[in-house]
Amino acid sequence: MTTRPIVGRFAPSPTGHLHLGSLTTAVASFCHVKSMGGDWLVRIEDVDFERCKPKFATSILNDLDNLGLHSDGTIIFQSHRTDIYETYIHQLSAISYHCTCSRKDLANHAIPAVSFYDLSIKDLNLAPIYPRFCLHKQLSNNKIRLCLPDVLSAFFDGIQGVVWDNPAKSLGDVVIKRQNNMINYILACTIDDGLQGISHVMRGLDIMPMTIAQLCIARLCGLPHADYFYHLPLLMNQDGQKLSKQNLATPIDTSTPDKASDLLFQALTLLNQNPPKDLHKNPPAVILTWGINHWDNQRLHGATLGAF
Ligand code: GLU
Ligand code: ZN
Repeated sequence: MTTRPIVGRFAPSPTGHLHLGSLTTAVASFCHVKSMGGDWLVRIEDVDFERCKPKFATSILNDLDNLGLHSDGTIIFQSHRTDIYETYIHQLSAISYHCTCSRKDLANHAIPAVSFYDLSIKDLNLAPIYPRFCLHKQLSNNKIRLCLPDVLSAFFDGIQGVVWDNPAKSLGDVVIKRQNNMINYILACTIDDGLQGISHVMRGLDIMPMTIAQLCIARLCGLPHADYFYHLPLLMNQDGQKLSKQNLATPIDTSTPDKASDLLFQALTLLNQNPPKDLHKNPPAVILTWGINHWDNQRLHGATLGAF
């Protein structure tokens, strides 16, 4: 096997400001990929023009800058890349179809998704499976669904171990483009990971149900896919509740180097990297260098991280 360059990425959707949870994901992927001598890219996943706002993209990029989390390449914005995604949608037309069903049409017909995951992540709440009412209808100009293969397959996750999934049974025919022409996350992310040569994906566990589908879509598009996946455990607070956008909505404040240093220290602590207690007194760059030099993926194993 030929080895290709090590490239990781942080791909936030600018639907809000950076918070401790998303910062932790950024720090983990940054330190991990840099500890292997790789490059780290930032990509703004703003295809969802209803939920994403330019002011949040600006704020996220400003925070990353203040924290010393600098992209090694040009920062791409998915909202500027619609033509690229359309080319691949065209390429996938033999295995996709238009669908006019509304949520209401499906209310009493949805097929429950089958989760192939172990107990620790079974509460990821998979949406129901689409019952393929439009599969043979020859429609046009409606949302587009892609037929995912009905096969049980697996990938190796560097944190979660071997992950099995059958995308036809866990996700069904996913929408890749909506009625309003919005390209869906699963397609845009897969294409960009392929085109940017991403070799290592480290991201939140909530996205793991998409991974087998993304591997399939990459192959169908004739694009390379990441060789290594790491799905970080969900962050928990002291009461064992998930730190999500809802209960961790507070935007982080990186306006001074001291604040940035404290945040990086908190992120490394949440990631079980055990930074020495005086480390936070150093400038952000020194904390990140410590994080890179001492990075240990083994410390991420286990059901939960955090207890902040
Ligand atoms: N854009 C996604 C999010 O902010 C992350 C995508 C990914 O890392 O694959 O939730
Ligand atoms: Zn339909």
